[in-house]
Amino acid sequence: MRNFKPLIHIFNVADRYFLFDTNAETFLEISKTCYQIIEEARQNIGDRGLLTKESFSELINSEIEDIIRLSNLNYQDANQIEETITELKMLYEQGLIFSELQYPVDEKNIGKSGIKALCVHPAHDCNMRCSYCFAEGGSYSHDISYMDIDTAKQAVEFLVNNSGDRKNLEIDFFGGEPLLNFPVIEKCVAHAKELANKHGKHFKFTLTTNGLALTDSIIDFLVSNRFAVVMSLDGRKEIHDNYRTDLAGNSTYEKILPAFKKLLNKMQAHDYCEYYIRGTYTRKNLDFSEDVFHIADLGFSRISLEPVTGEENSSFSLNEHYLSKLKSEYLKIVENSLTRNNSSEINFFHFNLDLNNGPCTTKRITGCGAGFDYLAVDPGGNLYPCHQFVDMEEYSMGHVAENSLNSDISKKFKTNNLINKNDCYDCWAKFLCGGGCHASALKANNSIEMPNQLDCQLKKIQFEYALYKKAREQEVDKEGVVHHGYGSV
Ligand code: SF4
Ligand code: SF4
Repeated sequence: MRNFKPLIHIFNVADRYFLFDTNAETFLEISKTCYQIIEEARQNIGDRGLLTKESFSELINSEIEDIIRLSNLNYQDANQIEETITELKMLYEQGLIFSELQYPVDEKNIGKSGIKALCVHPAHDCNMRCSYCFAEGGSYSHDISYMDIDTAKQAVEFLVNNSGDRKNLEIDFFGGEPLLNFPVIEKCVAHAKELANKHGKHFKFTLTTNGLALTDSIIDFLVSNRFAVVMSLDGRKEIHDNYRTDLAGNSTYEKILPAFKKLLNKMQAHDYCEYYIRGTYTRKNLDFSEDVFHIADLGFSRISLEPVTGEENSSFSLNEHYLSKLKSEYLKIVENSLTRNNSSEINFFHFNLDLNNGPCTTKRITGCGAGFDYLAVDPGGNLYPCHQFVDMEEYSMGHVAENSLNSDISKKFKTNNLINKNDCYDCWAKFLCGGGCHASALKANNSIEMPNQLDCQLKKIQFEYALYKKAREQEVDKEGVVHHGYGSV
C-alpha cells in the first residue's frame, strides 16, 4: 500500500499569508517572515519544489544564522525569526503540520458498497442551442433520441439491484434537456418509490434543467417529490443570452427567470431549499463576479459558476493567461459575500469546504466515483461511467436490461485514484479535490490518468480562496465587525 507523504502548502492572498497541511487539513495564518522562511526552504532544500518532512525537520533544527542565510532575511529580524521557528517546532511536534495521514487508505474498499447514483438521460434533445454545450445541442453528436418507459424502469431496477447494502440512492435527471421527456421522469420516480418500499431503499432525485419547459405543474411535481434542482443561468442578461439561446437564436433569460423564481418560492414554502443556480463563465465574462452578484441580487443564494470546458482554441475557452484575472474575481466574491445580509447572501458552491467533517478517506481518494459509485444511462439504456462519457463507444459499460457491468472499465476508474495518479499524489490539494474530472483529463490529455492542468490550476485557486474565506469569516461577523485573534504563526 502506498502511503501519502506529509505535505504543507503556503500561499498568500491580499497581503496575508497562510499555511495548509494536506493530511491533517490544519489551516493557519502565518506571518510574512514565516512564509519567507518556508518558501526559501522549499526552493533551496525541497525535492522538486516540494518541501519534505525530513527537510523541514532539518530546517527547524538548524542554527538561526543558517536559517537567516537560507531565507535571505535580515539579521535585525533575528528575534522574530527565532520566535517563528519555535512556534513551527511546536506545531510540528504536535503533529499539526507535516502530519501523517490519520486514517488508513485501502484501495480494496473502493467501489465495494455498490452503485449509489444513476444519471438518467430521458432525452438526448434540447430546446436550447448553447454555443458552448459539451453535448452538441443535447444530442451528443448523434440523432436526437428519447428514453422509453420500459427502459426508464429497467434503469431504476438496475440501480436497486446493483446498490448492495446501500440504503440511500440517487437518480439525477440530466440531458440534453430532461424535461422534454417529462412523462419518463414521472414514471421513473413512481417506479423508484415502489421499489424503495419493497427493498428498504430511499431515493433522492435531482434534475438539471435549462428552465425553458418548466411549467407550474412540473414545479408542483418537483417540489412534492423534494427534488434537488440545478437551474442553468449564467448571470447578467447579456451574458446569459450571449450563449444560451433558443432554437431560433432568441434570448432565453426573460423566459426562464420567472419559472426559476417560482420554483424557489415553492421550495421555500415547503420548507426546503435544495437547488443551485449553475452557470458557466467564459473568456467573454472574465468579470464573472458580477454575474455571481447579479444572481444573488435576484434572490438566489446557492450559486455555482463553473469555468467553461471546451476546445482550447474556441472563442470562449479559458487558458492560463487568464488565471490572475480569475483570481481577482474569486477574491471579489469572498469580500463581497462577507458584507451581504441574509436576503441577498451568497453560498458559493466552490467555497464550501468542510475541513472537519469531510467525506471518508476512501471517498476522498476517488473523487466523483464515476464508473463504480456513479453511472450514466443514455436514452437507449446503455451505461457509461458518467454523463460526460455518454456515446463514447470505448467507455460503454453494458445495458440496463442485462444487469451486468463491464468490470474492466469499472476497474480502470476505481484504480484511477489519488494513490496511482502521480500528479495527484504529490498535490497539496488532493484531499480537497479527489483527483479531478476523468472526462476533462481525457479531453485534455487523451488519458483519464493525467489530470487537465488548467483544471488543476483553477481548482487550486478556488481552494485557496475557499480557505481564505474561512479565515475572513472568523474575523467578520454579520454586522461587518472585524474580530482579531485568528490563530497565527
Ligand atoms: S486533479 Fe489536479 S488539483 Fe486535483 S488532486 Fe490531482 S493534481 Fe491536485
Ligand atoms: S468524470 Fe468528470 S464529469 Fe464525470 S462525474 Fe466525474 S467529475 Fe463529473
